[in-house]
Amino acid sequence: MSAETVLIVGAGTAGRSLALSLRRADFAGDIVLVSDEREVPYDRPPLSKSVVVGEVDAAGVTRPDRAAYAQDRVDLRLGVAVTAVDAAARTAQLSDGSMVTWTALALATGAAPRQLPIAGLDQPGVHRVTRLDEALALRDALVGGPKHLVIIGGGFIGMEVAAAAVKHGHRATVLEAAPEPLSRPLGLEVAERVLAWSRARGVEIRVGTAVEQVLGDGQPTGVRTAAGEELAAAVVVAAIGVAPRLDLARALGCAEAAGGIAVDAGLRTSIPDVYAIGDIAAYPSSYADEPLIRVEHVSVAIGHGQVAATQIARGEGAYDDLPTFWSDQGDVTLNVVGAPRADDTIVWRGDADAPVCTAFYLRAGRLRAALAANDTRTLRAARRLITAGVSPTPEQLADPTVALIELLPG
Ligand code: NAP
Repeated sequence: MSAETVLIVGAGTAGRSLALSLRRADFAGDIVLVSDEREVPYDRPPLSKSVVVGEVDAAGVTRPDRAAYAQDRVDLRLGVAVTAVDAAARTAQLSDGSMVTWTALALATGAAPRQLPIAGLDQPGVHRVTRLDEALALRDALVGGPKHLVIIGGGFIGMEVAAAAVKHGHRATVLEAAPEPLSRPLGLEVAERVLAWSRARGVEIRVGTAVEQVLGDGQPTGVRTAAGEELAAAVVVAAIGVAPRLDLARALGCAEAAGGIAVDAGLRTSIPDVYAIGDIAAYPSSYADEPLIRVEHVSVAIGHGQVAATQIARGEGAYDDLPTFWSDQGDVTLNVVGAPRADDTIVWRGDADAPVCTAFYLRAGRLRAALAANDTRTLRAARRLITAGVSPTPEQLADPTVALIELLPG
């Protein structure tokens, strides 16, 4: 055993990023990466896009392969959970009976499907798409001809699965409790456009429609809404959101904020040598107007892992990247930069009917975020403007003849 041991709990995007960044940061000690999943760590974004429709298989999302962990001397322990942690003794108890003594502990526990009081939701045939095994099970259920999917929840997972399924000849009905799918993360005005694009591509969407029961007895046959209506379906998918997994952090006594674990720019929690990264981390961002934000997207998880690595190895580094994410909704690719808020003022540029356009999010006249639909040129400009803190006028933003890039300081 070397003098230093980093224990990483969770091998999702953040945990994997940290494990594979430590050697690049010249960390020479032991690295233990523990995952309660059995698969070698994999990319999650394709699950709700290409995996469920069989365009990409398990090998296509497993990146890097197992040999890379051996090469970096990462002790990868799969199918094992950390069941208890002790901050004073600096130990962790694992479900296989082993114990790890750590000098740095990184919590990358991610998020787990929300538990909601929907009768029949626990039937084995109700699909989820938060893990690889679940996405593969849905893919298998879609084999053998067009199927009718009822998707409970019109968040990113629900809308992406619906778009991918329709593109492959299935019928998809999204039932969303909120007034518009995606209105919480994107705001109502932008969400309405996204909804229109999805509908134009054949996705059926019913808003303000909460599901209160999944029908069937072991094999789902449909759903019943809160209004008492029954809809039959060959395949039922629950995409009703996730909740950050905070049990271990709470057991350690880590301070909490914004629904997660409060960290500084170096991803340090309130407990010495304990880090929180990825979905659970509430971190400071100069791109937000709240003291700490939590972002459940892949680019943030990757960056958190990289910065935690330099912090653990060398005590340096700060995370303050522009938040970014993308969502494929059939042939419409949405790219979001910045941290949009539902109450921002929206300015549009481009042709929303095409849809090749961008929504700019303004807060007290300041450009804080942008959503580009199939519009990478404007996206590039928006990224640079927001990073530089430059806010064009609404008229300049809306006018496609104004070259936004030229508004950047020399
Ligand atoms: P989500 O974005 O929170 O959406 C879940 C939706 O389901 C919410 O709009 C919710 O409405 C609705 N809902 C809840 N209960 C319902 C019911 N009984 N009947 C009908 N609708 C109901 O969660 P998700 O789509 O499951 O995604 C999980 C996580 O993965 C998120 O953090 C997401 O950002 C991330 N993800 C990101 C991407 C991407 O970046 N492209 C892709 C996939 C997943 P209420 O909010 O009103 O409860």
